[in-house]
Amino acid sequence: MDQWINKSEVISLAEKLISIQSHKENQGQEFNIAHFIKDVFQAEKIMTELEEIEPHRPNIYGFLPGSNSDHYFMFNGHIDTVPGFNMEYDPFKPFIKNGRLYGRGSVDMKGALAAMISAIIAIKRKGIPLKEGVVFAGVIDEEQCCKGTERIVRTKAITPTLAVIGEPTNLKTAIAHKGMEWIEIAFQGLATHGSTPHNGVNAIYLANEFLTLLRNELEPKLKNKTYPLLGSATINPGVLKGGNDPNIVPDHCVLQIDRRWLPSESILELYEEIEQIATKAISKISGGSFLIKRMDEATAALYNMPHSISPDDPFVIETLRIAENITKVESEPVAFPGWSDGAQLSNNLDTSVIVLGPGDITQAHSNNEFCSIDQIWQATQIYYSLIEKFCL
Ligand SMILES: [Zn+2]
Repeated sequence: MDQWINKSEVISLAEKLISIQSHKENQGQEFNIAHFIKDVFQAEKIMTELEEIEPHRPNIYGFLPGSNSDHYFMFNGHIDTVPGFNMEYDPFKPFIKNGRLYGRGSVDMKGALAAMISAIIAIKRKGIPLKEGVVFAGVIDEEQCCKGTERIVRTKAITPTLAVIGEPTNLKTAIAHKGMEWIEIAFQGLATHGSTPHNGVNAIYLANEFLTLLRNELEPKLKNKTYPLLGSATINPGVLKGGNDPNIVPDHCVLQIDRRWLPSESILELYEEIEQIATKAISKISGGSFLIKRMDEATAALYNMPHSISPDDPFVIETLRIAENITKVESEPVAFPGWSDGAQLSNNLDTSVIVLGPGDITQAHSNNEFCSIDQIWQATQIYYSLIEKFCL
């Protein structure tokens, strides 16, 4: 591959991508970066397309068509990042120190974007005809509601048979991750004067009963639900809001929870468990009620499903072999700790999905974000080899 693209070209592309802001506080969000990537592809005479998902917020695609026009191998990377927040250096002036590329998005995931784009450019420069097509999908909004990949799934304009998601895995082959469901439970009581609490129904007490059951009954139950590589299902009460003043019995208390679920669970099961303990909680205090709702304004409209692919799938076996050859590190399938757009593809389009990208997830969203430049270069080689393996 080295004769078609070199390491410094890949790293300089990663630097340019970092220097173009593409977060929610940036005016135009992903507009500039999508257009920049379009120009990069066009300069190489690679077919490209912008698809506006929201006004001025386009997905950017690059295509290498194959002779088998229905089949596509997708390289999927989100082009948005989180904002700079309190980073220890200028987040959008990338620099290299001790073999690390620093900057917002270096690890999540502009290093991977540079590697994906570069692998496709190398294949194009080589000029070999492909049987299966390759598509780069630079998607918007992954850090918020995942609208970019959701559009791909809804329109079915491209239905990839294989896909790599470039989230940071230290170049390990991640074959599973949990689903993520945000649920709100609103407890309703009866307000009255704080001096006569026996005349009211305290909604904070209702929430308290619920939380006690969550901790003592639901948590142990979830610990016993496990899935290979993923461990247990989990639940986290993250927000609790209730009451106005100390001298009023609160009639309203809202609890928001994050439930990480396993491929072996169903979404129905999740809600039934919550409903069961909520029913039990309000039975302890007469006059209370509750309402459970999905927080769909804050997460993907399609469910944030879990993802898994069999370790025996030929796509997994070949990826492990290729990654091992290139990194010289023994490779075993791993789980990805977060959530990824890959779940949308595997659950809705039946795509075989692997999560594999340069860098360590602990650096993502951190104030000291960086990515190993060797790993960005090795990711380029892995992506290139995957195209050669599955598309020629
Ligand atoms: Zn990410």
